[in-house]
Amino acid sequence: MSADHFSSAEHRAIPFDNSYARLPPAFYERAQAAPAPSPRILRINDALARQLQIDPAFLNSAAGLAILSGNSTAAGSEPIAQAYAGHQFGNFVPQLGDGRALLLGEVVAADGKRFDLQLKGSGPTRFSRRGDGRAALGPVIREYIVSEAMAALGIPTTRSLAAVLTGETVRRERMLPGAVLTRVASSHLRVGTFQYFAARGDVQNLRVLADYATARHYPAARSSPDPYLALFDAVVAALANLTARWMLVGFIHGVLNTDNTSIAGETIDYGPCAFMDAYDPGKVFSSIDQYGRYAFANQPAIMKWNMARLAEALLPLIADGGDKAVEAANASIARFNDHYEQAYVGGLRQKLGLSREMDGDLALGNELLAIMAESQVDFNLTFRRLSETADPNRDAEVRSLFVDPAAFDAWANRWRERLALEDGSAEARSAGMRRVNPLFIPRNHRIEAAIRDAENGRYETFNELMDVLAHPYDDRAEFAAYANAPVPEEEVQQTFCGT
Ligand code: AMP
Ligand code: MG
Repeated sequence: MSADHFSSAEHRAIPFDNSYARLPPAFYERAQAAPAPSPRILRINDALARQLQIDPAFLNSAAGLAILSGNSTAAGSEPIAQAYAGHQFGNFVPQLGDGRALLLGEVVAADGKRFDLQLKGSGPTRFSRRGDGRAALGPVIREYIVSEAMAALGIPTTRSLAAVLTGETVRRERMLPGAVLTRVASSHLRVGTFQYFAARGDVQNLRVLADYATARHYPAARSSPDPYLALFDAVVAALANLTARWMLVGFIHGVLNTDNTSIAGETIDYGPCAFMDAYDPGKVFSSIDQYGRYAFANQPAIMKWNMARLAEALLPLIADGGDKAVEAANASIARFNDHYEQAYVGGLRQKLGLSREMDGDLALGNELLAIMAESQVDFNLTFRRLSETADPNRDAEVRSLFVDPAAFDAWANRWRERLALEDGSAEARSAGMRRVNPLFIPRNHRIEAAIRDAENGRYETFNELMDVLAHPYDDRAEFAAYANAPVPEEEVQQTFCGT
C-alpha cells in the first residue's frame, strides 16, 4: 500500500476533507492545541459519530481521547483558529477570532452534508487576547446538554460530539476542572466573519468568503441575478426561522452578538443561555447582560439588527455597491419580519392544535401568553398540559397552574370555540400538540445539578439528563419528575459565561 493510499480520507479514523484551510491565509491562523496532562472521557456521542462516518469505538479509544483532548493531531486534521470580528453588546470589535477553539477540519456525513469538527477549550491562540484559551467543566457540560437537547427538539443547532476532562484546573472565580468540548457545526461562518473582512476594506477576501458561504450553505443563490443579495436573503430567512423556533420553546440565547450568529442558521455558542421556566417576556439570565439587550422578547429585533450588520458588510458585493445596494439590502432586511411572523404564527398554531389558518389565531395565542405572563406560569408545562385536553379529566392540570384560573377559563372558552372550527378528533389533535410541545426541556436547575455533581466526580446526573432530553416529546413515566418546573429553592436566576 502506498503512503498516499494510506493517508486518503477513507482510511483515516476521522475522514477529514478540509475546505476552510484551503482559503487564503487571512482567514485563519494555523495553531496547535495545548496538551492536556491527564485526559479522561466524560461523554462521547456515539450516534452522532456514526452519522459523521466516524467509528465511535475509535473516539472511545486511547487514540481517540488523545485527539479529543488536543494531545495529538489526527491524520488529515489541519488545525486552525478562525478569524472573525463582531458586535458585542452593540459595540464593534474588529478582531475577535477563535481565542479558545480550534477547527480541526471538516468531515462529510453519510447524507453528503459537510460539518466542521471543532475543539473548544483547547488552549490559547493568536486571538486569545487576555483569555487563557481554556474551558471549565461547567460551560462544557452546559453546551453539551443544551445543544443536544436543541437537536432533539428539532431546532437547528451545532452539536456535541464529545466532552473530555483535561486533568488540569482552570482559574475562574474559583479553580475548576478544565474540559474540552468537540463541537460539530454546519460551519463556523458567523456574521462577524463577514464583518472581519468588511471592516478591513478587504473586498477581495469578502468575495471569497461570500462565494464559499454560498457554495457551502445556499448553493441555489449562485444562479440568482444578484447572487450576493440572494445569499443575504437566504441567511435572513434561515435566521428568522431559527429565532421563531427559539421563541416557541422559551429559549434565551443570552449573548446574541453578531459573532455568535451563524450564517448557516444554527444556534451556536451556548454560553449563559437558558430555557425559561416561568414565562416572562423580559426574562434575562445572563450575568453579563446588565441592560437586558438580549432579553427573551428582544430576540427577534436583535436578530434583525444582526442581519442589518450583515447587510452592511455585504454591501460592496451587492448590485452597484452604492444606493441601489442599500435599497435592495433594506428590502431584504424588511422581509425578516415576514419570515419571522410566518414561522412564529405557524408554530403557535401547531402549539394550540390549530391546523386551519384563521384570522385571530395570533391574537388568541397572544392572549394566552398575556395571562401566562400575569400568572408567571411555566412556559413549556402550560403548552404541554394544554396538549392533554382531549381528556376532559385533565383540564384541571393546566387550569391549576394559573394564579387566576378564571382568566384561564375565559381564554379556554375562546380557544374551544376556535377548536370547534377544526376537523379531526380531539385525540389526534392532542397527539399533534404533544409532538410540538415538549415535555422535557433542559431546565436550568437540572443542568446546574449535572454540573455540580460532575465537578465532584459524579457523572450519572449528566448522563441521565442526556437520556431524558434525547426524547423531549415522549411521555416516559420513569422520568416524570424531569418535566417539573423547579421549586423555589431550586430556581436558577442567573447563568454565567464562565469563559
Ligand atoms: P464567546 O463568549 O464564546 O462568544 O467568545 C467571545 C470571544 O472571546 C471569542 O473571540 C472567544 O474566542 C473569546 N474567548 C472567550 N473565552 C475565552 C478564553 N477563555 N480564552 C481566550 N479567548 C476567549
Ligand atoms: Mg462566541
